[in-house]
Amino acid sequence: GPRVGVLALQGDVREHVDVLEHLGARVTRVRRPEDLAAVDGLVLPGGESTVIDKLSRTFGLREPIVAAIRDGMPVLGTCAGLIMMADRLADGIDGQQTFGGLDVTVRRNAFGSQRESFETELIVPALGEPPVAATFIRAPLVEEVGSARALAFLPGGSIVAVEQDGLLGLSFHPEMNGEDRFHRRFLDRVRV
Ligand code: GLN
Repeated sequence: GPRVGVLALQGDVREHVDVLEHLGARVTRVRRPEDLAAVDGLVLPGGESTVIDKLSRTFGLREPIVAAIRDGMPVLGTCAGLIMMADRLADGIDGQQTFGGLDVTVRRNAFGSQRESFETELIVPALGEPPVAATFIRAPLVEEVGSARALAFLPGGSIVAVEQDGLLGLSFHPEMNGEDRFHRRFLDRVRV
């Protein structure tokens, strides 16, 4: 199978590793630049984007990841991972940086404290049937898409999944619901 990495600085690393291994991928937990050099695609897990940002700089991973995305490496990001892929943040805290790559504006914690987490079924035309069981946890929303394409919306019209070339960003956590179709789509990009 393809060699892929899961950025393993903070967040729900194990859940992504399990889905990918189940699909036959060889998975490396990426903690150092050498780990990144050995993979052909990268998953950015959910967690806390400010922490992932800081740790990526501490571990010398920020610049190699930015360069790999610029060079076309396929990336799947969920929740905090989507935040890390955004070119623009509507409300990043002071000094917060993203890796960028997705031509979108993302708002962190977009649902406020009244609705910190919820589950819903999403119709995702790009995946077909059945609908996606999606878990949202302090989730971000995509407020503006430039050249990226919206793949899924909440009933009110908010964008919760986007794609741009080999980059796939999700507001929610398919890895927590046994949903593997986004990971399959990511692995298909890695194999090309
Ligand atoms: N609110 C988190 C952040 O800003 C993301 C939450 C998540 O990944 N489940 O990074």
